[in-house]
Amino acid sequence: MPEWLNALPKAELHLHLEGSLEPELLFALAERNQIALPWSDVETLRAAYAFNNLQEFLDLYYAGASVLHTEQDFYDLTWAYLQRCKAQNVIHVEPFFDPQTHTDRGVPFEVVLRGIQQALRDGEQQLGISHGLILSFLRHLPEEEAFKTLEQAMPFRDAFIGVGLDSSEKGFPPRLFERVFAKARSEGLHAVAHAGEEGPPEYIWEALDLLKVKRIDHGVRAIEDERLMQRIIDEQIPLTVCPLSNIKLCVFEHMGQHNILDMLERGVKVTVNSDDPAYFGGYVGENFAALHEHLGMTEAQARRLAQNSLDARLA
Ligand SMILES: [Zn+2]
Repeated sequence: MPEWLNALPKAELHLHLEGSLEPELLFALAERNQIALPWSDVETLRAAYAFNNLQEFLDLYYAGASVLHTEQDFYDLTWAYLQRCKAQNVIHVEPFFDPQTHTDRGVPFEVVLRGIQQALRDGEQQLGISHGLILSFLRHLPEEEAFKTLEQAMPFRDAFIGVGLDSSEKGFPPRLFERVFAKARSEGLHAVAHAGEEGPPEYIWEALDLLKVKRIDHGVRAIEDERLMQRIIDEQIPLTVCPLSNIKLCVFEHMGQHNILDMLERGVKVTVNSDDPAYFGGYVGENFAALHEHLGMTEAQARRLAQNSLDARLA
């Protein structure tokens, strides 16, 4: 990666902490917690990182997350991510975590939260990285479950800046979560949601109009709907785009076809993020580098993308 690219101050606004679990740490935690894994070694696991769509990735992602049990595990996961950020001059992070991935396996909500929170605090003090944590609901589960998760979270209200919506997109439109998002907003939480990754532009409209989100996560399919494009340009609604993720999950066939720079040039407030870096081949820096290599991103464009990420912070 060119040094000027690495040195640019950036914020990361679309990162799933569970998706930053590198194979080496995954194996170390499995050993520490005496959990048997379906893969014989790190290489076998890495070889499984070939996905045809979002669901194939999610199946592996949930299997990987099953090694996380103790507060220390969640601390180590978050701390490892923050060190990567430090190395790439990511100065602010707004990561997601999925409580339901863990509470459904019997890990208490506060165990997950305390580990993450302590690492974020240490990151602020020792690495100078500021943060705002986002609690994300799993959309393949019913809204009722999301309500329960929000209820569990409320005693720790100050630990979050907002709520998000992730997991399997197709067939699970934002409108299914309208009431729980209204409740979260009434508690003063910001709203964001994954929309328009695999799902159609209608899902982006719903996220804006029904969930009243401040940012759209992914949103690359907005380009299929000209009226929607005009709205996100006029209202400067940030899109947290994840280029390497989109290639790994076949949203675009090649990086050369990615639309992020076209959107940038049209005036869309796009940002560069890594989504699930351990699974998709890199962190924010590698995502910027891929745009430079395959789309001819200029230094001026990189600076605008980095500035967009700082402007689109919620914390
Ligand atoms: Zn995501």
